[in-house]
Order: sequence, then C-alpha cells, then structure tokens
Amino acid sequence: MRALVKSGPGPGLEMAEVPEPVCGPGDVLIRVRRAGLCGTDLHIHDWDEWAATTIRPPMIVGHEFFGEVIEVGEDVPAGSIAVGDAVSGEGHIVCGHCRNCRAGRKHLCINTIGVGVNRDGAFAEYVAIPAGNAYVQPSDLDPDLGAIFDPFGNATHTALQWPMVGDDVLITGAGPIGVMAVAIARHAGARHVVVSDPSAYRRALAQAAGADLVIDPTRDRLRDAQRRLGMREGFDIALEMSGAAAAVEELIDNMNHGGRVALLGLPKGPFPIAWGSVITHMLTIKGIYGREMFETWYAMSAMLQTSPALANAIASVITHRVPAADWEQAFAIARSGECGKVVMNWED
Ligand code: NAD
Ligand code: ZN
Repeated sequence: MRALVKSGPGPGLEMAEVPEPVCGPGDVLIRVRRAGLCGTDLHIHDWDEWAATTIRPPMIVGHEFFGEVIEVGEDVPAGSIAVGDAVSGEGHIVCGHCRNCRAGRKHLCINTIGVGVNRDGAFAEYVAIPAGNAYVQPSDLDPDLGAIFDPFGNATHTALQWPMVGDDVLITGAGPIGVMAVAIARHAGARHVVVSDPSAYRRALAQAAGADLVIDPTRDRLRDAQRRLGMREGFDIALEMSGAAAAVEELIDNMNHGGRVALLGLPKGPFPIAWGSVITHMLTIKGIYGREMFETWYAMSAMLQTSPALANAIASVITHRVPAADWEQAFAIARSGECGKVVMNWED
C-alpha cells in the first residue's frame, strides 16, 4: 500500500510502498479515506528536538483520520463494530491496566501510546488500531468532518471543561483548535468570546466562527478589548490554544478573581508565570491533553446533531483539501499558517 513514511532519523518524509498492516485479534483494519494534518506531523517531518527524542523510524505518520472498517479481529466483541462501519480514529491507545484506566479515566492513562507517533499511523491507505479506538460515525457523515474529530475533540475537551453559560471567555490562539473552540463556546452559552491571534487570516476564521471581538496581540491589549465589550472585572474562563508564553502572561493578568484557565497549547519550553497573581486572584489552571474517552466523542456527535450552526462552523475550519499524492503541497499549506485545517484525501 501507499504510505507517508519517516524512513530514518533526519528531516523529510517519503511516499513509499509498504506492506499492509495486519489486523490483530483485538483490532480493526480501516481503509483510510481522509486524514487531517496536525502540527505534530510538521514536527516529525522537520525532525526537531521533540521528534528526534520521540519518534523511532521507520514509522508511518498521521493520527487524524476517518475511514471504513474492512476487517474485524476475531476477539472483538460481536455487535460492537462491523465491516462497513464508518469510523474516526481515537489516536491515543491506552493500556487498560494502570490506575486511571481501571478507574475508567482512560484519557489519564500513564502508558498512552500515540498512533502516528509511537506506532504506525494513518497517512496510508490502511491502518490497524484496537477496535476500542475506532469511533463509529453515522454512515452519512461528511468524510472530511470525520477526519477532524481528533482536533475537534481537543477543542471540545478544553471548552467544555467548565460550564460557561453567561461567562466572558478568552481564547488565545486561533489555529484550527482555537477556531473550533469559539464555535463550541458560543454553543455552550458564553456571553462574550474574545480571541487573540497575530495572524489576520486566522482572526478572520475566528470571527466567522462567532467571536465577538478578535485582537492582534502584537498591537492590541486584552484590557482594551474588555473595555470595548463593557466587561469590568476580567475573563471568567480562558482557553489557551497557542502555546505562546506571551499569550499566557497577558491571559493571567486579565482574568477575573476565581477565573478558570484551561491550557491546551503546548509551549516550546518552560517559561515564567506570575504565580503571585495566580494565588491572590485564586485562579484555577488545568492542563488538557487529548480527548476524554469517550465522553468528549459523544459530546461532539451530540453537538453536531443538535446545532446546524455549530456543524457549519466546525466544517468551515477545513480550508484545504488535497489529494494524498500531493502531500508535499498539503504540508506546505499547513506550514504557511494561511489555512485552517488541511485534509488529505487518501482515495485520490
Ligand atoms: P496552530 O499552531 O495551528 O495554532 C496556534 C495559533 O496560535 C496560531 O494561529 C498562531 O498564530 C497563534 N499564536 C501565536 N502566538 C500567539 C500569541 N502570542 N497570542 C495568541 N495567539 C498566538 O495549532 P492548533 O493545531 O490549533 O493547536 C493549538 C495548540 O494546541 C498548539 O500549541 C498545539 O501544539 C496544541 N495541541 C495540544 C494538544 C493537547 O492534547 N494538549 C493537542 C493538539 C494540539
Ligand atoms: Zn492506562
């Protein structure tokens, strides 16, 4: 089969002919239809420090995907999943025996393995994953939308961390995940949604997804944004989706007392925090990773089902669709930042 492979240490990827994966007794084999590009894939391509210490080549990359089940392993419980089912992949494979797994908190598994990071991924014609990691979708779901449930799940996991009815919400970073979080915050009843991002392209996406006010953090201050919206006491909830130290710094300084801060963006390294403000303003700060298995997934399906406005906003995050054969172009678009989600079509 065709697959996008990191064949050895160092920069680059290659489209190669490799053996099809074997469907293990507890697995499903999936014919990949669409796959989304994530920042992680760019890091693996570029072979930065994180990639060099994490990735063990040769390995097929890619972890955001949608496809059709074509084989079900012999140990998979009957009735749970069947050949022909349309599925999205949950890329975090958990151990099932650690303390959190046994307590049913699989997203907190201490032994999590990543599809396309620690084992072969989904930028390929076929991928095999544990059956429990396949999320069965409605048969009429738009395949492009099916391919972005992983980042949609990051946005959902973060935005639904706390109730936000009537709250003033700040979202720092309007990448695909930040933009989806805007739509979810609207759906969840936020009063004001303010978004900051230095990219004009991405501020426009956030605006289209329902932000009340978008600001350029290189030019505009959050304090002024609050004044313009008639807010007096600071943000009730902040969703950090940039990984930028400067964003976190200004965010902490603009929270209401008792504010809640969910950190999803992955910083490049350690950076200082105004701990005095965190303490005296009694902020709650919570790190968010992946998706809750599978509460986040059910929430996503339910939101899409009940809100055409949310469904439209989530779909509009996909700005580029590229045949897998043109993967270099897909990577170049994703790298440019002049895009929302880039989805590769593995049927082309
Ligand atoms: P992205 O890189 O496409 O978006 C990040 C955005 O932040 C960009 O639009 C950038 O212009 C903006 N930005 C940069 N500096 C900023 C600043 N000072 N203030 C405000 N915005 C700023 O990423 P994405 O795919 O949307 O993901 C968002 C973040 O979440 C990334 O940091 C990513 O690494 C991280 N992530 C975390 C998880 C997790 O499980 N915790 C999963 C996926 C992605
Ligand atoms: Zn575990």
